[in-house]
Amino acid sequence: MEINLSRKFGSNKKVLITGGAGFIGSAVIRKLLKDTEAKIINIDKLTYASDLTSIEKTLNALGNESKKRYSFHKIDLCDADATNKIVRQISPDIIIHLAAESHVDRSIEGPKVFLQSNIIGTFNILNAALSNYLLLSQQKKEEFIFHHVSTDEVFGSLEEDGFFNEKTAYSPRSPYSATKASSDFLVNAWFHTYGLPILITNCSNNYGPWQFPEKLIPVVINKALNNLEIPIYGDGLNIRDWLYVDDHVEALIYVICKGKIGESYCIGGNNEKTNIECVKEICSNLDRINPKSKKYENNITFIKDRLGHDKRYAIDASKIKLELGWEPKTKFSEGINLTVEWYFNNLDWVTSILNK
Ligand code: NAD
Repeated sequence: MEINLSRKFGSNKKVLITGGAGFIGSAVIRKLLKDTEAKIINIDKLTYASDLTSIEKTLNALGNESKKRYSFHKIDLCDADATNKIVRQISPDIIIHLAAESHVDRSIEGPKVFLQSNIIGTFNILNAALSNYLLLSQQKKEEFIFHHVSTDEVFGSLEEDGFFNEKTAYSPRSPYSATKASSDFLVNAWFHTYGLPILITNCSNNYGPWQFPEKLIPVVINKALNNLEIPIYGDGLNIRDWLYVDDHVEALIYVICKGKIGESYCIGGNNEKTNIECVKEICSNLDRINPKSKKYENNITFIKDRLGHDKRYAIDASKIKLELGWEPKTKFSEGINLTVEWYFNNLDWVTSILNK
C-alpha cells in the first residue's frame, strides 16, 4: 500500500470498530492487526452473521504482541447506555462504524431489526462519539474521525446506462437500503449540526473469504459443492459491481488517511457482472478445482424474483481515484478464483456457521 499508516494507525492510536465480527469488519481488523500497531477495539452484538474465527486465527498467527492490542466487547448498539459507556471508557481516536443488519432478503421478511440496528444503532454510536469528542483536547479533536461505512444501494437502481457517484440523489428501494440511507443522513447531520468530524463511504457489492453463506457468491459455491440446485433470482440479468473485500478494506484506510472531513466517497470494483455471468464464472472455477461428471452450471435454477429487485448498481469511483489515489487491485477473475478455492478448503467453517 502506497500510504503511510503510522500517522493514523500508530501504536498510540485507538481504533474502535463496530461490527468487527462481520464479513467486512473482520477483514478490516485482520488488516489493522497485520499492518499497523494501533490498538483495536471490536464491539459487536454477535448476530447470526458474525464470527470471530478469522480474527482469532490472525491473533494466534501474529502472537502475543497483537493479542495485547486487541479487545472484543459484546455490545448491541441499540443499548445506548452500553454504547456510551464503552466509547467513554476507550476514548477512541477513530471509529469505523460497520455494524448493521446487511442482508436485503432478510430486510424484506423482517424490516424492524434493520430499523433498530441500522438507524437507532447509528444514532446511539453517533451520540456516544459526539459526547466523548466534546471532552477531547483540541489536538485530539483535530485528529478524531468517525468513518461510516455505507453502501451504493442507497442510490437506488440504474438502467443500462449511467453510474452512481457522490452527487447522485438518494433513492433507496429496499428496507435495507432505506435504513442505510437513513444512517448516512444521520451521520451527515451530526457533522453539519454538531461538528462531529465524519467520513462516509458508499461501496458496491463485496465478495471474498469469510462471508456468511447467505449472499449470492458464497450461497452459489456452497450449493454447488453440495450438489444442490443453484438458485438465481428472476432472469439472472440484474447487474452488480463486485469488489474484492481486501480492496474495500484498503479503500477505507485510504479514506481515513487522506479523505476530507465531511465528504463522502464512492468505492467500486469496475467489475460489472450480471448475476448469471457471476454464477457461471463460479461454476467454471469449480469445474477446474473439483471436477465432477457433469458441469456445475447444470444445477442452475431460476427462481421467483426478489420483491423490488434493483436492476443495476454501478459505481463511478473517479473521486477516490483522483483525490486519494485508490483504485481496486483485484481483477474479478482473480478474486473469484481465490474465493472459490477458499470456500472449497473451508467447508467445515461454512457448515459450522450455518448450524450456529
Ligand atoms: P455483516 O452482516 O457480515 O456484518 C455485520 C456485523 O454487524 C455483524 O457482525 C453483526 O453482529 C453486527 N451487528 C449487527 N447489528 C448490530 C448491533 N445492533 N450492534 C452491534 N453489532 C451489530 O455485514 P458486512 O457485509 O460485513 O457489512 C458491513 C457494513 O458494510 C454494513 O454496514 C454494510 O451495510 C456495509 N456494506 C456491505 C457491503 C457488502 O457487500 N457486504 C457493501 C457495501 C457496504
